[in-house]
Amino acid sequence: MSTLSTSQKQQLPADLTVFERGWLSSNNILFVGKDSTALVDTGYCTHTDQTLALVRASLKDRPLDHIINTHLHSDHCGGNAALQAAYGRTNGTVQTHIPYGLAKHVASWDDDALSYKPTGQNCPRFTFQYTMQHGDEVMLGDTNWQVHAAPGHDPHSIILFEPESRTLISADALWQNGFGVVFQELEGERAFDEVAQTLDVIERLNPQTVIPGHGSVFAGDEVTAALAVARNRLDGFVQNPPKHARYAIKVLLKYKLLELQSIPESAFIDWVKATPYFEMVRGRCFADKSMDMWVAGYIEELIAGGAARREGGLVLNV
Ligand SMILES: [Zn+2]
Repeated sequence: MSTLSTSQKQQLPADLTVFERGWLSSNNILFVGKDSTALVDTGYCTHTDQTLALVRASLKDRPLDHIINTHLHSDHCGGNAALQAAYGRTNGTVQTHIPYGLAKHVASWDDDALSYKPTGQNCPRFTFQYTMQHGDEVMLGDTNWQVHAAPGHDPHSIILFEPESRTLISADALWQNGFGVVFQELEGERAFDEVAQTLDVIERLNPQTVIPGHGSVFAGDEVTAALAVARNRLDGFVQNPPKHARYAIKVLLKYKLLELQSIPESAFIDWVKATPYFEMVRGRCFADKSMDMWVAGYIEELIAGGAARREGGLVLNV
């Protein structure tokens, strides 16, 4: 976890704190207002103890009143269940707000539709009280924030904008150096256009400061630069969709390594074979390669790129 520099803090509204969590867990944004408190996104489930410790240390004796999820990928809502247990049953009534699009799947806990099962990720079951969609406003701390639809990385994602300070919580729609994997494209549905439209929405909002789903807060000219980087990256994917698919597979493998830290290479390959998303992408984009050759190639690429290393029979996260 890193802390913000003084200049970054000055640019942010006074009632919010950003917990920058890295890549396995999304950033969490804690609001402590006069009347209510809220947490935007809750990290991955294996980091739950750290999430609870960070929230408790900041809230001290105050309850957590609201949990907000920008979208329901496992790295953004994996702490929901533990926070609901800590601040719901025993300590008041935390209210959870999720994007409207997946509400029925959360209600019935369909972990296929929620992506956890096909991608081999974990997310403890949680409940919700409210849904959010484009045009809504949510009170975070002392201020109303606008809810904007942000399809592309995830068709149901929302982003949050506060017009007075021009602060944007951009989730995985815009990072300082790109944006999240466009999952629908891997599944055979067109979504690169939606990524572009969401970048246009962000440009029109004209944020001064962006709090991304992963990585550091950025502001001013850095926002303009980030939009240019994202558009350039998107253009590369549009011109060459297999490039996006290869990037996505490496992201999913690295994500598992971040979770496990080390795994016997044979078990890693077995996990890939047992995780349906990989076979779906191979069959759709790389059907000329056998599964074993295909996976082995990616592991070599991760090692060559410095994202993993091999020791004995183990593959280790770097
Ligand atoms: Zn995501």
